[in-house]
Amino acid sequence: MKYPLHYYGDPILREKTVPVAEVTDEIRALSDDMIETLHSENGIGLAAPQIGRRESLCVVYVPGEYDVDEEGHRLNPDAAMPMVLINPEITEPSDIQAARDEGCLSIPDIYAEVVRPYEIRVRYLDREGVSRDERYRGLVARVIQHEVDHLNGILFIDRISHVKKIALRGRLKRLRRETEERFKPA
Ligand SMILES: [Zn+2]
Repeated sequence: MKYPLHYYGDPILREKTVPVAEVTDEIRALSDDMIETLHSENGIGLAAPQIGRRESLCVVYVPGEYDVDEEGHRLNPDAAMPMVLINPEITEPSDIQAARDEGCLSIPDIYAEVVRPYEIRVRYLDREGVSRDERYRGLVARVIQHEVDHLNGILFIDRISHVKKIALRGRLKRLRRETEERFKPA
């Protein structure tokens, strides 16, 4: 089942999610629906608040051709896509940082450069409830950081330069107003 997206201005995007107590069939079904929603939006990552849910759960789908360095070598050959990350916790962010444009399915048509650690270690439960502790780098690491931010009520526009934020202020305001209009009781 495909879920409708929640957009910038929706208060749920600013709430902190709740850890999943147990990976049940219901959680697996939610994960599958989130993957379906992600694919239908042609996205590379989706977090539960973006579909109006409060579970600490996100999904990532970075196609192999994007998971490469400048020479075309795979960065995370062992990362099986799509990934389901339940209760993810990032540890050991690398001192090496990387800058890259980001966008967000909940903030359509807005892109801006975000500087993030190039490599991370992340502890999480997978779709089967198996505990994992892995390292990721490059775009996969970036998407995981973007999604874990969502689980903490943080959006990528919180991490962009002050100058860029000022430049985008009008468009963000308009988007927020559109979202609020949709919520107004008729
Ligand atoms: Zn996002």
